[in-house]
Amino acid sequence: DTRESTSLCPPVNEEMASPQEERTFIAIKPDGVQRGLVGEIIKRFEQRGFKLIALKMVTASQDHLKVHYQDLKDKPFFPSLVEYMASGPIVAMVWQGLEAVKQGRIMLGATNPLASNPGTIRGDFSIQTGRNICHGSDAVDSAEREIAHWFKPEEVSGWKRTVDSWIYE
Ligand code: ADP
Repeated sequence: DTRESTSLCPPVNEEMASPQEERTFIAIKPDGVQRGLVGEIIKRFEQRGFKLIALKMVTASQDHLKVHYQDLKDKPFFPSLVEYMASGPIVAMVWQGLEAVKQGRIMLGATNPLASNPGTIRGDFSIQTGRNICHGSDAVDSAEREIAHWFKPEEVSGWKRTVDSWIYE
């Protein structure tokens, strides 16, 4: 590598050219959209260095949401959860990066906003569990299931980001 350290090209570590990246499904719920938090939430994931690879606004049907939340179908709050999630448009996204699933959950905060630390999305912008403004996959396998449930394969873009070598060594 003959480049000088002052070069505009970052050093490229060929052995670590593509770190083990994950994909996670992040959604801004109808209350997050109504409250004008779309830009704020996207900004946090962008600024952290995660890569946006799919995005759409969709008002989901109750049937679609019942499948999305299938693991919670026996919970007492399930009907009101589905109704709330179907009450308006959602911004559905896929974000990619190193530990995207776990880090996405940390950035969102705890399910109950009152238990979420300041600095997290829920801890900064919400109060009650039933209006906690955002969703994030809780595991790599559920992320894969959720991405396939919300997006067709051609809606997910594997674009090459030119700044990646300034984010990963
Ligand atoms: P998370 O969204 O943090 O993964 P869960 O999967 O446990 O949390 O629950 C899914 C969603 O269901 C929560 O984000 C919240 O909107 C709603 N929910 C969970 N628990 C309750 C509850 N006790 N009362 C009302 N709504 C709840």
